Amino acid sequence: MNQVKSPAKSDSKASLEAHNFLKLIIEKDIEAQKNKGQVVTRFPPEPNGYLHLGHAKSICLNFGLARDFSGRCHLRFDDTNPETEDIEYVESIKADVKWLGFDWHEHLYFASDYFQQLYDWAELLIQKNKAYVCSLNEEELRRYRGDFTTPGQDSPYRSRSVEENLDLFRRMKAGEFNEGDHVLRAKIDMKSPNMNMRDPLLYRIRKVPHHRTGNKWCLYPMYDYAHPLSDAIEQVTHSICTLEFQDHRPFYDWCIENLPTQGQPKQYEFARMNMTYLVMSKRKLLQLVKEKLVIGWDDPRMPTISGIRRRGYTPEAIHSFTKRIGVSKAESVIDFEILESCVRDDLDSVAHRAMAVLKPIKVVIENLPHGHEEEIQAAVHPKKPELGKRTLYFTKEVYIDAADFMENPDSDFFRLSPGQEVRLRNAYVIKCKEVIKDSTGQIIELRCEYDHVTLGGKPTADGRKIKGVIHWVSATKCVEAEIRLYGRLFKVAEPEKVEEGQDFKSNLNPSSLRVVKKAKLEISLKSAQLDLRYQFERVGYFCLDSKDSKSEALVFNMTVDLQSGY
Ligand code: ATP
Ligand code: MG
Repeated sequence: MNQVKSPAKSDSKASLEAHNFLKLIIEKDIEAQKNKGQVVTRFPPEPNGYLHLGHAKSICLNFGLARDFSGRCHLRFDDTNPETEDIEYVESIKADVKWLGFDWHEHLYFASDYFQQLYDWAELLIQKNKAYVCSLNEEELRRYRGDFTTPGQDSPYRSRSVEENLDLFRRMKAGEFNEGDHVLRAKIDMKSPNMNMRDPLLYRIRKVPHHRTGNKWCLYPMYDYAHPLSDAIEQVTHSICTLEFQDHRPFYDWCIENLPTQGQPKQYEFARMNMTYLVMSKRKLLQLVKEKLVIGWDDPRMPTISGIRRRGYTPEAIHSFTKRIGVSKAESVIDFEILESCVRDDLDSVAHRAMAVLKPIKVVIENLPHGHEEEIQAAVHPKKPELGKRTLYFTKEVYIDAADFMENPDSDFFRLSPGQEVRLRNAYVIKCKEVIKDSTGQIIELRCEYDHVTLGGKPTADGRKIKGVIHWVSATKCVEAEIRLYGRLFKVAEPEKVEEGQDFKSNLNPSSLRVVKKAKLEISLKSAQLDLRYQFERVGYFCLDSKDSKSEALVFNMTVDLQSGY
C-alpha cells in the first residue's frame, strides 16, 4: 500500500498508457463467446454522498470498457440504506457521470426498483430451506459469528421450520416487529473460514422512510444480497468492484447459484485508487462538510467530482489521468502530482491566455503623454491562431507584480530593478528610473521609461540584450477580481496515518485557501466565460467560480499553477 506512483517525466505519452487487466479478461470472454459475446457493466454508487476521484476512476473504467467493447454500462443506485441516502446525492451523481462525458441512455436503475423481486426471492430461499429468521440480538449475532481464528456457532433459531420462517418473515414485512427483533439470514456454513459465508444477513427491519419507496417497506435487503441480484436482474456480465469485496465473492456467487436469475454475472476486483494529500471516502468527506471545515461538497479543494469541476479541472484531464494510472490488483497510492500534470497538459492546449497581476505595484511610464492609450493585439493562444486576438492597452500607468521587482537584486535576477530593463510581455521594453516610497519606506510606484522600437518582441535598436519578460496590466484599462488560490487540502501525503487519539482532520492544511481581493486583470477578462479556461501568463490556470462570480464582481479559482520554474 505504500508504493507511491510518481510522475514519470521522461516517459513518452504512449508508454504512459498503463495496463488494464480487465480488458484482457473481457477480450478472452468475447473470444470464448461467453454471454454470447456481450459486455454489460454497471457503475453502482450508493447515494450517500458526493462522488470523489476514486469513483471517477470506476466510472471511466466501467463506462470505458462498455464503450471499448461495444457493450453498455448501467448507472444503478444501490439504495438499500434509507438512513443515509438522499435524492440530493442521486442528482449530484447523475450530473457527475454526465460531466465525465458518459451516458447511461435508458439504463438508469435503482436497487429499490427490485425490492419486490428481492423479497420474493427471499421467500423462495426460505422455501428451499436456504434462509431462516434469526432472533438473536445484535450482540449475540456478533458473538455467534466467531472471528478469524474461532469458527462460528449455529444460531439456536437455525432449525426453525420453513413454515415458521415464512410466517415470521411475512410478519416482519407487515411491520409487526420492532427493529432488531429479527433478521433474515442465509443458511450456509457457520464454520466457513470465510466470515462472509457464516450465515450472512439478508434482511433487517428498519422503520425509516426510503427516499424512493417512502413507507412501503420496513424491511430492507442487505447490500451483499441486493447487489449480486441487481446485477443478475440487469444481466450484467462483468461486475467490477474494488478489492475489499474479494472475500464477498463466494456469497455473490451463492446468491446467483441459488436463485432462478436470468443473468449470470461474474465479479472482478481491482485495487481502489488512493492519492497522496487526499482522503477518498465519502464518510470522511461528509465529516468535512458537516463540520464546516470546507465550504461544501463542491469546495474547490475537495477531491469530489463537483469540487474539481468547480476548481476548473476538465473531464479530458480526468480521462487521461485514469488511462495513465491503469487498472491493477496491486494497492498503490498515486502521487497527486500525476493528476496535476494531466490537468496542466490539457489546459495548456485549451486555455485562453491573459494577463493578471495578483500583487500589483504601479509603474508610471514617464515618456508617455497623459491619457496615452495604445491598442496592442495579442494571441488568445500561441498555437491556435483560430482563437483570434485579444486587445491589450498600453497606457501611461501599468501594474506589474511585486515579485517582479527587486530594489537590490541578486545577480541572477533578470526582472525589473533600478537602472535595469525588462520586457513587458507583448508590449515594450521598460527601464526603471526611480523608486518612489511613502514615509514608511514602502514602495508606492516605480518611474520608468519605455523603448518605443521594441513593441511585441522586437529587438532594441542598438542590439542590447533584454533577458527578462514579465506580465503587466494597464492601470487605467483593467478589471478587478477576487482570486482564490488553493494549496493542498491536507498538509501531509498520507492524511489518514495518524497517532493514537488523533484523526485525519488534524492533518488539514490551515493555509489551503488564500484569497487575493483586488487582483488587476487585463480588460478582456471582463467578459470571461464560465465554460472557458484561462492561463494567466506566468501565474497559472484559472476559471470563473461557478457559484460566486458575478459580472460586476468577478471571482476566479486557481485550477493549478504552472509547472514550477517558468
Ligand atoms: P466510499 O468508501 O468513498 O463511500 P464506496 O466504495 O462505499 O466509496 P460506492 O458508492 O459504494 O462507494 O461506490 C460505487 C463504486 O465506486 C463501487 O464500485 C466502488 O468500488 C467504486 N469506488 C469507490 N471508491 C473507489 C476508489 N477509491 N477507487 C476506485 N473505485 C472506487
Ligand atoms: Mg459504500
